[in-house]
Amino acid sequence: MTTQIFSGLPASPGIGLGHTYIYRPRTLLPQLLGPEDAQAAPQEEWERFLEARAQVDQELVRLAERADAMVAEIFLVHREILHDKTLSQAVRRHIQAGLHATAATQQAIVELAQSLAELGDEYFASRSADVRDVGQRLLAHLSKDSRAHALAHLPRNTVLIAEELTAFDITHLSPDHVVGIGLLNSAPTAHTAILARSLGLPMVCGLSPEVLQLPFGRLAILDGIQGRLFVDPDQETLESYQDTRDRLRRFRVRAEEHAQEPAITLDRIPVPVQVNINNRQDLLTASGSGADGVGLLRTEYLLRDRDALPDAQEQLAAYLEVARHFPNRPLTVRLLDLGGDKPLAFLPVPQEPNPFLGLRGIRYLLHHPEILRTQLEALVRLAVEAPVSQVRILIPMVSKVSEVRRTLAALAEMPRAQELRRSGRLRLGVLVEVPSAAVLADKLAPLVDFLSIGTNDLAQYMLAADRSNSAVAALASAMDPSVLRVMAQTVQAGQVHEIPVAICGEFASDPSVVPLLLGLGIGELSVVAPAVALVKHAVRQTHVAQARRLAEQALRCARAQEVHRLLERIRAQQ
Ligand code: PEP
Ligand code: MG
Repeated sequence: MTTQIFSGLPASPGIGLGHTYIYRPRTLLPQLLGPEDAQAAPQEEWERFLEARAQVDQELVRLAERADAMVAEIFLVHREILHDKTLSQAVRRHIQAGLHATAATQQAIVELAQSLAELGDEYFASRSADVRDVGQRLLAHLSKDSRAHALAHLPRNTVLIAEELTAFDITHLSPDHVVGIGLLNSAPTAHTAILARSLGLPMVCGLSPEVLQLPFGRLAILDGIQGRLFVDPDQETLESYQDTRDRLRRFRVRAEEHAQEPAITLDRIPVPVQVNINNRQDLLTASGSGADGVGLLRTEYLLRDRDALPDAQEQLAAYLEVARHFPNRPLTVRLLDLGGDKPLAFLPVPQEPNPFLGLRGIRYLLHHPEILRTQLEALVRLAVEAPVSQVRILIPMVSKVSEVRRTLAALAEMPRAQELRRSGRLRLGVLVEVPSAAVLADKLAPLVDFLSIGTNDLAQYMLAADRSNSAVAALASAMDPSVLRVMAQTVQAGQVHEIPVAICGEFASDPSVVPLLLGLGIGELSVVAPAVALVKHAVRQTHVAQARRLAEQALRCARAQEVHRLLERIRAQQ
């Protein structure tokens, strides 16, 4: 049987090994209700609603008491919705019009959720999901809801696959039975993901719709660190993941306890562990993760759902919002990385046969100097105003030395930019993600203040394997010795020119590769928010002098599997 691999976004770290269970719930629609709605006695039905509301209230209080502060806040919001007058007045109106309490509640919830969703604003859309969530809790009490029952009685070792799950659904899952969750929708920072993390349930979101067609009961691995789902994995993959899962379980508990403390290796070398942020919603989890700053802010989110480029003032406000969550720590902001897999509706991105090899990242910005200038202006002002320790500007998709020179020239035209750079408040760095940039790192390093390795693209371009094509995405492994060799070359250039070399590709979010990265000489790691505590813990278990020997061996390997085996051996010794 051939292995099927699906890529998504890592939303809750950990490895789940089990069997697929495809969950297709009934939707919340009023017409699903049966004929019981005839001849309701209004006073009795109203009391039934009040009784259900009181029970849900107690349930939410209990859940909030058991949860940590961030999760408790979700339940507090749900209590506010539960006691919202608009909701109870609507229920009452429907009961007086002749509906039973169940139908009246369902109707009122659907109306309220719809009216919020129609406001077309991200904030209200998420409130609409909360309203549906509260509605499900009420309906569970009113109608002994079968959805809650189904989720509470899933088979053991379930890898649960669904289009979407609500916070309500997650609280009904039994962590003894569910080992991982794969979703089509949702986002790493949605309430669902926050709850999954608080339950220690690995989760991947943003999977392709094909996963809903998978058969039940297939052997599956859910990798919540790299954001992957393997179905019918081969023996080697299975064994390697069994090993990773067991190890992770052991050290997750200890890692979370020390998430807010600095990560220092066994031979006393401090290693900043920073966080990657993709959008506004990421902020909440990222700021509570214990990260020592932001290693990558993907600014493309500023343009999503917009019909014009935000001006410098608006961009500054958005960056300051991020900065306020990371006082006295560095904030690395990547220049807009447009093109490739990040097309935009309103900007003139040309139709290209190979967008990944086309007008992408800095190439695009140099073709549209006004976009580059606006962003640089916002970032220079950020360096003046932000409460962070320094602002680092990261140039994406550099493939030529001349691109860096031209960006430097554009920056030099900004008032105060030179002075801010000299004082260290503002830094400029190259995202090393194209092989030519890695090979010429010794020519780039003297021009800039830092390098950051983007393994997602570096692996895709080194191995000529499209990262968004599931048929070849697995080939694009950053563990491949070819990728490791150019990473080593990049680090060496940084060392010679005495500038820091970081890594911000997803590869660094896997705690098991930390010894390899530190052994290669990488000095800073930037990872997805759910992995910060785990990666810090891995740093604390690493001895850099020993890790160097491991890296030397890895660089001599011919295949990624050999590097895997080396890392396994290290793990076994720990
Ligand atoms: C990378 O390529 O590794 C990277 C960090 O950028 P992105 O994933 O946004 O292309
Ligand atoms: Mg990239």
